[in-house]
Amino acid sequence: MAHRAVFLDRDGTINEEVGYVNHCERFYLLPRTSQAIRLLNGHRFKTVVITNQSGVARGYFPESLVQEVHQKMVSLLRAEGAYLDGIYYCPHHPDAGDPPYRQKCRCRKPATGLVEEATRDLELDLSKSYVVGDRGIDVEFAQKIGARGILVLTGYGRGEWEYLRDRWRVRPDHVAENLYEAVQWILSQESSEDF
Ligand SMILES: [Mg+2]
Ligand SMILES: [Zn+2]
Repeated sequence: MAHRAVFLDRDGTINEEVGYVNHCERFYLLPRTSQAIRLLNGHRFKTVVITNQSGVARGYFPESLVQEVHQKMVSLLRAEGAYLDGIYYCPHHPDAGDPPYRQKCRCRKPATGLVEEATRDLELDLSKSYVVGDRGIDVEFAQKIGARGILVLTGYGRGEWEYLRDRWRVRPDHVAENLYEAVQWILSQESSEDF
């Protein structure tokens, strides 16, 4: 049986948006992130981080830093009993830096390459899945993969929602203050659908 997933954006959704996280010391979990992910773990959602990290292509930091930051994220979450089933990132940018990182790849959100990979690795049912993120492209990405999209107002969320939403091609299915409230909404949807 295929699993339901919640695809989580990283910067501005899980951790504080600080511009580029170009050092481990700039990575801080947002309040109640662990609690939110633990709830998803408890309800048998696969929790999958999908993140664009074009700072690699732009030459701001090496790809190894992205992996170090992810180790830190995993251990901070684990210390609070929260578990991620997968972490996938795109280090590319279509115009910045040099090849091979400069490329029109299939994995930079809202493109769907990373989700295709996750779906194969984890046997996911995208039609029963959700995307949570702080930008319009996260919402667009949700629609592209046939999942429901939730905008959080942390990170760039509040500004994008106030100033840019008229330009968005896709409306979010829900807008939440933060990841924890997004997860509460997801669980309320699930109970009303008789899972
Ligand atoms: Mg973000
Ligand atoms: Zn990519």
